[in-house]
Amino acid sequence: MGKLFLKGLELVGKRVLMRVDFNVPQDQNRDITDDTRIKATLPSIRYVLENQGKLILLSHLGRPKGKKDLKFSLRKIALRLSELLKKPVSFCEDCIGEKAQLAVDRLNPGDVLLLENLRFYDEEEHPKTNSSFAKNLASLGDVFVNEAFSNSHRPHASIVLLPKYFKGKAAAGFLMEKEIKALSDLISTKKRPFYAIIGGAKVSNKLEMIKSLAKKADVILIGGGMAYTFLKAEGFLVGSSLVEENLVSEAKNILENAKNKQGATIFLPIDHLASDDLKGNGKTLICSQDDGIPAGYYGVDIGPSTISFFSDQLKNSKTVFWNGPLGIFEVPKFAKGTMSIAKVLASLKIDSFVGGGDSIAAINQAGVRDKIYHISTGGGASLEYLENGTLPGIEALSTT
Ligand code: AMP
Repeated sequence: MGKLFLKGLELVGKRVLMRVDFNVPQDQNRDITDDTRIKATLPSIRYVLENQGKLILLSHLGRPKGKKDLKFSLRKIALRLSELLKKPVSFCEDCIGEKAQLAVDRLNPGDVLLLENLRFYDEEEHPKTNSSFAKNLASLGDVFVNEAFSNSHRPHASIVLLPKYFKGKAAAGFLMEKEIKALSDLISTKKRPFYAIIGGAKVSNKLEMIKSLAKKADVILIGGGMAYTFLKAEGFLVGSSLVEENLVSEAKNILENAKNKQGATIFLPIDHLASDDLKGNGKTLICSQDDGIPAGYYGVDIGPSTISFFSDQLKNSKTVFWNGPLGIFEVPKFAKGTMSIAKVLASLKIDSFVGGGDSIAAINQAGVRDKIYHISTGGGASLEYLENGTLPGIEALSTT
């Protein structure tokens, strides 16, 4: 049984409740600095409007912690959406209750309304069974669309409870459909060798994913801050680099299993760019793995030999999944490893999947976005999908 998709819904004259992810980055004046997430939902939004639905958009923004805090208002997002759609977008300063109901009642087919931040209610992030919040939201719509893939790993009210009020009428939007199809292809990939590149700061966030990828991939290349916990487990000197001490023995187990050919082969960096200042204002050194990183220095990027080694490895691949930068790429001096690997991925005729905000930013910075086979909008969500083959927000949708 497959999931119901947007094209399977009857829309004419219907109140269409669509959960989107408009949690966009903003500057100090709360002006939007990157509207990628809004643009990503436009195809579904336009489709509903063209098909004469009355569209009601639901989203969260930031972490207002269950209280009304206008710093986190979606009002400015309504303005940006209106510019992008080139049509008026009404806004209501509440997402449930009388005001929301009135705003919905005023809609005509082809109109669009954005409701205020769902997280102004504590029940969004901490849903109760028989949640009145989800029930109140549900009363505003006739059909439901989840277009918030990047939030669908979270068991929040609008993601897991709300769709249950729409039996046979809770569908995945276009973006969500694309993510489900691409990531399920990746899970069942026949195009081998399948390489995973895992970087980023924290082993603790990605340990389960590394274990599950070890069962699916042929080779895992580990870089970024998380490599140092693994290198420490191997007995290498890592200086002052980021290490999660409590995970060193777990990292050792993972490496032992890989050496015993239980699952994917794992490669760690063989040299490093190290610096005595994380902000890029200090001295830098290239450290070979044998010499190690001296005390007072942090590993901030993979070194030149690792760049060549990882690049050569990737030339053997047919499928690649990448999550997490290979160095502190926000500092230009420490971005070479991440940029080089992004360019190698773009140059190969392979199926490359990139997931997660930082990795997408790196791909954009390297200017190779259109050369990547699939860019997943959700970091946590794509990792959890790879681990479990589904997400709570997908499970809650109707089947066909
Ligand atoms: P994550 O959210 O776990 O994917 O981590 C992304 C962050 O990892 C980015 O902000 C990078 O600056 C950071 N990062 C990458 N490599 C390192 C490193 N060697 N040391 C410290 N942080 C790193």
